[in-house]
Amino acid sequence: MHMYGTSQVNNQGHLEIGGVDTVELTERFGTPLYVYDVELIRERARGFKRTFEELGIPAQVAYASKAFSSIAMIQLAEQEGLSLDVVSAGELYTAIKAGFPTERIHFHGNNKSIEELHMALDNQIGCIVVDNFSELTLLEEICSNREEKVHILLRVTPGIEAHTHDYILTGQEDSKFGFDLINGQAENALNQAIKSNWLEVLGLHCHIGSQIFQTTGFLLAAQKIIGKLKEWHKSLGFQPKVLNLGGGFGIRYTEEDDPLPASQYVEEIVREVQKQIAHSDLEMPEIWIEPGRSLVGDAGLTLYKVGSEKEVPDVRKYLAVDGGMSDNIRPALYEAKYDAVLANRPLDPVEETVAIAGKCCESGDMLIWDLPLPKAGRGDILAVFCTGAYGYSMSNNYNRIPRPAVVFVENGEARLVIKRETFDDLIRQDLAFHEAVSFNKE
Ligand SMILES: *Cc1c(COP(=O)(O)O)cnc(C)c1O
Repeated sequence: MHMYGTSQVNNQGHLEIGGVDTVELTERFGTPLYVYDVELIRERARGFKRTFEELGIPAQVAYASKAFSSIAMIQLAEQEGLSLDVVSAGELYTAIKAGFPTERIHFHGNNKSIEELHMALDNQIGCIVVDNFSELTLLEEICSNREEKVHILLRVTPGIEAHTHDYILTGQEDSKFGFDLINGQAENALNQAIKSNWLEVLGLHCHIGSQIFQTTGFLLAAQKIIGKLKEWHKSLGFQPKVLNLGGGFGIRYTEEDDPLPASQYVEEIVREVQKQIAHSDLEMPEIWIEPGRSLVGDAGLTLYKVGSEKEVPDVRKYLAVDGGMSDNIRPALYEAKYDAVLANRPLDPVEETVAIAGKCCESGDMLIWDLPLPKAGRGDILAVFCTGAYGYSMSNNYNRIPRPAVVFVENGEARLVIKRETFDDLIRQDLAFHEAVSFNKE
């Protein structure tokens, strides 16, 4: 049996997280249920922040809230002194409603609408990460009309694609995001931006991938970007205040994953930036990073109740749970791997390998293909580990399955932070045929 995060077995022989019995949680709150260990989120946040502090480097650690956005989660990020990334008006709205200091919010996205840009300006958010020329021109026009200045970062694609176990150098990146560093787009964008009376360019941003287990990609990105920054300091007199190297730090979803500690990513990144800056006329910029999954991923798990089983002779045995791609679409979307145990008897010896299926009407609705388990059946509780990132945030109502509740646990206490959807929630926006608003042709 493998354990993740801070889970352990209590003296009832049940899986426990944050000092709370998971079986009791299911009795109290039902299943499926997302459970987050608050202490572990705090620890992860402090791990990133501490290293910058020890190295004496001004920094911002921005939580990429798309990984899991909710009022309580954003308030927790605020308690830990994090900054916040948002990528839509909805995420920004959540942050504002959570009372998050707007000057520490950064707005991302490759297609921010006019309304979203106004909302960002109305709320005086910290900066807008400008993604393309069309947005650059639009934002300049909006700011000029409003006679308001705004801080921006320019998102660049440095020609490095970092994957889980390697990285690929690409001449010109075929990505919908950012200004290409190599073909001159980034320089043109900077040139345009620094001429503006309304846009104040704080610096550059890049994000090279996700679930990255090595530092090489980040170091290469820093090298390439600072190489250009040196040129632009000479040609344009540009001194960046900020260098944002994005997120994507890997976490342990299964036994095969072997992530680095946050301190190592941060330390190596800082040293590389210092080294590159040292022999130039540039001053050391602030370093910003944007972890998402590495702050909340392994702090979360999902509890399901086991229901039906189906044996396909000589092939496999399917065990179905009461959720699936509606609460965790990652296995169906990109073959993401997870590990799990029986929460009600985690210490029982493994007897067979089973496939964990969801309950949605899709053959691809599988959570785990090969899971060693004790003989399990209807009524057992399955705990799937490391579902804290992109689980709830990608959840959906396929098959009109209500979204599960979310519970925070800390020091033996559980608090409900997102209520389970009800059937009435599912039909809240529906209009009956006879009351449906009709729009007649004139
Ligand atoms: C998704 C994303 C992140 C966070 O990625 P994780 O893999 O969750 O750490 C950070 N920055 C940007 C720009 C992103 O798109």
